[in-house]
This record gives sequence, structure tokens and C-alpha cells, in this order.
Amino acid sequence: MLERTMDRSLHASRCHRLGAALSAALLVGLTGCSTWHRVEAYPGWSLYSEVPEGVDVGAFQRAYDPAFDAVETVLGKFRSPVRIHAFEDEDGAAGVAAVQEVPGIGRARVRAYHTRGEGPFGPAAGIYASSADPGTAVHELVHARIAEIDRDLPLWFEEGLACVLGDGFLDGERWVVDGLACWPLRELRERTPDVTELARLLAVRADHGTDLRENVLVHFVGWAIVFDMYRTEGRVDWPGWIAQARSMSVAEARERLQRTLSAETETAWLARLDDVDRGVRMATAKGLWKLRSEDVLRRLLDRLGREEDPEVQVALSINALAAAGEREPPGRLAGRMWRTVWPALRRAELANPVEEAAVESLLSSFRWRGNRDSDAALDALQRFWAE
Ligand SMILES: [Zn+2]
Repeated sequence: MLERTMDRSLHASRCHRLGAALSAALLVGLTGCSTWHRVEAYPGWSLYSEVPEGVDVGAFQRAYDPAFDAVETVLGKFRSPVRIHAFEDEDGAAGVAAVQEVPGIGRARVRAYHTRGEGPFGPAAGIYASSADPGTAVHELVHARIAEIDRDLPLWFEEGLACVLGDGFLDGERWVVDGLACWPLRELRERTPDVTELARLLAVRADHGTDLRENVLVHFVGWAIVFDMYRTEGRVDWPGWIAQARSMSVAEARERLQRTLSAETETAWLARLDDVDRGVRMATAKGLWKLRSEDVLRRLLDRLGREEDPEVQVALSINALAAAGEREPPGRLAGRMWRTVWPALRRAELANPVEEAAVESLLSSFRWRGNRDSDAALDALQRFWAE
């Protein structure tokens, strides 16, 4: 997984962290000289760290247990235990540069990756993760499971499935898949690959060398195609999809890509903001700000006017604020936003005291137009907006 880095200190309403994924292929070989200690063992997986006392073991368990459930439900039980390596991401991940420039796309931070293992002197096979984010856990576990099932699938399919299943919301102990990943959607709309480029991206395999930009584009394109399969079929049909992926023509891929990027698809998907399941409403709202769309802002505000669940109210509010921070709305819409969001945030009572305090601090940072506290507040509320 990659996290796109941008300046995040301009205004309290801005949340500038964009998520995407990066396959291990680029990073293999860079972690060979580390010493990993086993911190904890669970049924089916173990947690490793170079600095055992620095790991939030409980947070990893809260993220990985439901992530295993979600992935095994779709792809079947893991055959072998999975190694999860927790790394510090301050200066880079165990030898992997923390921040890399992706030409034409922007700066990106390596958040996690999976490697299939590179023999006795290479890094151990498994997941390397800088945080206990549940979506990242799902994404990387898809890679870990596919490495057990079929190591020769097209990379676009593997990354696409990981991106679709890894986009969602952890509602208690249940991972609720959304699948609409907003960063690739916006990037692909701004620059849609032509047939030649699409054919090249579809041909990439996990063990081919690719440069960083190409690797990111494989994620984007793979997400768009697999999202179309998911949306049109309403579920993941693993055996059926493997066959489709192997024989997918460029023409079909292009058709699926264009359907995913269409305005109709987005409009229909946003109806999930009114779903009876609050987990689905949360999963849908989360990340929508990245689309930089006035329409999306209106939909968030429409739902906020009817929403009664306090956590969903907070999610809708923060994503609306962030959407307005990405692209300043016209005066009337901005006025409506403040009239809707401000009282909703003031009213919302969250069970978690840290999150409750963060909402308070966010409100006071708007009141005083301060920036300092809002970054910390937004960090504490990441599960409501970070995708
Ligand atoms: Zn990936």
C-alpha cells in the first residue's frame, strides 16, 4: 500500500492523505539485513518486529483478525501461518525509502507491502506494515493468500481484487467492503490509459520488474476492472473470476474500465449512503472527499440531514469538510455545508473518549481558524475519512 503525501497544514478542513497500493515486486530484496523478533503468535499468524517494545500488539490484533475473516471468506482458508512484520515508517521501512516520487502522480509513502520470499538470504515471505490499518491488512492478506493459490495470475487482477476488498470500513469486528476506491477513480478520470498503454499494463506479472509509476498504474487499472466485475455481479466469484482474468481481452478491459469511470456508476453507487446497514453507509462515505466533486459534497450533506447514527454523522461531516477543502464550493453550497456540518459535529457523541475529544478539538480549530490542533484531531479520526 502507498499513501500519497501532500501538504496537510493549510486548513482544518483539509485531509490530504490518499491511499493506494504498491506490490512487493519493487521492494523485494531491500529488507534482507534486518533482525526480526517474534512479538506474538496467534492462530494462523504471528507478529514480528525489529523493536518489539514499540509495537501496539492489540491494534494489530484488532485489525488483522477481522481482515483474515474477510479474506478467507472470499479466498478460502490460509494453508500456512502468515508472518506480519510491523515496521516504523519514520525514516523508511527497514531499508525501503519511505517516500518516493511517482512521475505524473505525485509523492507517495510506502505504507505496507507483501513479499513472496526471496530464498535464504532475502527477506522472509510475509506482510510488512507500518501501521495496524484494517484496510491495509485486507489488501496485503489478499496478496498473501493468492501467493498460496496461484502465483501466475496477471498482476492487474491480484492488485485489483486487493484494492476492491481492501476498501471498506471496520464496523466493530466486521470488515464491510465498499470497493469504490476514490484515488484511482479520480486519477483514471483525469488521465485514462489508451489502448496501447492498457494492453501493456494488462500483461504485467507479479514477478516482472516494473517501475514505480507502472506499478501504481497497474493498481489503478486493476481496481477499475475488478470493481466493475464486483459491481455488476454483486459479489466476488473467485473461481469464475480467475478464468475471466486469464482470458480478458483488451477490448473487454477497456469497456469495464470506462463503465467504472462513468458518472452513472458513481451516482448509483452513492445510493449506498442511504443503505439500511450503517457499516455500508460508513464504508461508502469514507474517502469520498478525494473525488473533489460538488455533487459528492451535496450527496454527503443530503444524507447528513437524515442521518441519526452519531458515528455516521461524524463520517459524513468530516468527508464533507475535506471535500470542501479539496475544492472550494460556491458560496451557497459552502453556506449550506457549514449550517449542516457544524451542528452535526456539535451534537455527535462518540463512545470513544479520544475520538470525542478530537471532534471537540476540530470544532474549536474551526472557531479560531487555527491549524495546529486540527492535524492531530484528524489523525485521531482517521478511520472516518482515510481510505
Ligand atoms: Zn497490492
